[in-house]
Amino acid sequence: MRRGRRNRKTRYRKPRFLNRTRKEGWLPPSLESRIANIETWVRRIRKLCPITAISQELVRFDLQHKQNPEISGIEYQRGELFGFEVKEYLLAKWNRKCAYCGIENVPFEIEHILAKSKGGSNRVSNLCLSCHSCNQNKGNQPIEEFLKREPEVLKRVLAQAKAPLKDATAVNATRWELYRRLQSTGLPVELGSGGLTKFNRQTRGIEKTHAFDAACVGASTPEKLLLNGIKPLIIKAKGHGRRQRCGTNKFGFPIRHAPREKFFLCFQTGDLVTANVLTGKYAGTYTGRIAIRFRPRFKLTTGGKSFDVHPKYLKTIHKADGYEYAS
Ligand SMILES: [Zn+2]
Repeated sequence: MRRGRRNRKTRYRKPRFLNRTRKEGWLPPSLESRIANIETWVRRIRKLCPITAISQELVRFDLQHKQNPEISGIEYQRGELFGFEVKEYLLAKWNRKCAYCGIENVPFEIEHILAKSKGGSNRVSNLCLSCHSCNQNKGNQPIEEFLKREPEVLKRVLAQAKAPLKDATAVNATRWELYRRLQSTGLPVELGSGGLTKFNRQTRGIEKTHAFDAACVGASTPEKLLLNGIKPLIIKAKGHGRRQRCGTNKFGFPIRHAPREKFFLCFQTGDLVTANVLTGKYAGTYTGRIAIRFRPRFKLTTGGKSFDVHPKYLKTIHKADGYEYAS
């Protein structure tokens, strides 16, 4: 066939190389899946309760506020809110650690790498996070002087100051697409920033958890939130397994093979089950997620630990749907 192709007389065919186009609004699968997860849960929650509006936290850090005072509107609000935005950004960027000594869980101060008195700017690339004592010790001396005995720390701080926050880029890439898709649900969608969320939460005296943060998103947050005794259901996207059947060693040599079937004894990996184990070391009643094996010995994960159980003790309470549930 290949030799024949050389002397066969055939019509002209356009080259079929690099001729694929991506759809408008295409996102890499990793980001697409984040959006799809949110869409799924908006749809599911709407089935259960009468949702009338959506508040979306558009950005974790709204640094626009400073460059563009018009955006925030009211002048006096800006001053108060803007501090939150920068501080939150710096906390995330410097991993909630002092940039100089690495101490954690202490009150942090915003540090100017090039001191303000030496002409340093208020730009985020000139700011870092430091504990009170490092901030005092450094004073207004240049960072090269302050860290002359620790060249590694100096190198790291300077490099980290320049690099923008990584996760912010993932959020930036998806936020408007998510906003567009939330709007297509037909509900009114309100936007708020991460700084506003923190501002709302702190002015209402609510402790920091992911769930309570979510309740504080956007300007429509009510003055009084009834959060006592609220326990969030933690949902984690786990996927539906993968299609790869052949496992390889580090050289790419095939060393194992997964079976074609996904079910064994009517169980599937990811099923939520109750286990009533009658005998043995693990006697007791448990609720958790199973991973199946193709022998009657499944792995049950419950409350952070896992052990093997025989399927005769198991009763499915929720079939695998690509999510893990915990409370
Ligand atoms: Zn320190």
